[in-house]
Amino acid sequence: MPVPRGAGSGEGRCPVCYTMRMEITALRYGDNFIYLLQAGRSAAAVDPGAARPVAEALSAAGRRLELILLTHQHADHTGGVAELKRALGCRVAGPPGGRPADTAVQGGETLAFAGVSIEVLSVPGHTANDVAFHVPAESAVFTGDTLFAAGCGRVLSGRAELMWDSLRRLAALPDGTRVFGGHDYTLENLEFAAFIDPANAAVRERLGALRRRAAEGRAFEPSTIAEERRTNPFLRCRDAAEFARLRARKDAW
Ligand SMILES: [Zn+2]
Repeated sequence: MPVPRGAGSGEGRCPVCYTMRMEITALRYGDNFIYLLQAGRSAAAVDPGAARPVAEALSAAGRRLELILLTHQHADHTGGVAELKRALGCRVAGPPGGRPADTAVQGGETLAFAGVSIEVLSVPGHTANDVAFHVPAESAVFTGDTLFAAGCGRVLSGRAELMWDSLRRLAALPDGTRVFGGHDYTLENLEFAAFIDPANAAVRERLGALRRRAAEGRAFEPSTIAEERRTNPFLRCRDAAEFARLRARKDAW
């Protein structure tokens, strides 16, 4: 089990640090999250929308960026790639159909970083080519703009069925898998969840806990797949049609 180190005490530079083999750090860039995976002297970055926060964090930690993982091609997830690649010479893996990735990956493939396997999951729906990165050894999944804490991304590919199917596959990951989504819309998402599902005590509890954390200025903490299954209204739909209706309500909310 991951053991939070310094969680809530405000100590250290990292919003999220675990005493596992790999350390996962969340960097904020606007309302985006950029994640750093760090092990030994090596680091990987997920969806670096900007180069500077990544370069500064790695320089402070004395680590070398070896790999960039992209969940999709939107600029707020890829804006820092060219500069990081030019400055640090790392390899870039992401879905096909876009420029920044030099290695196109698709669902079913496995990447290696710091001796750990990273499974590529195909999760289209937000765009036509989104992928998620599942790191079973670290009980972590990086879900880009497909699955957010208590919410999901907008369906921009035009096919709610694809998004629904992708969300269901993410929801089938092991209960304890920590969810690292691409944006921090958690408060708004939980307020919507409480509005849609007022009888759900787990939603109310989660919303209350988040407000307390925010009032105390505490750092980001990932949710788990089990928590998402209990409280994320998009994972609680019965079918693709119900999902499409709910997504349309959230778009207009
Ligand atoms: Zn996006």
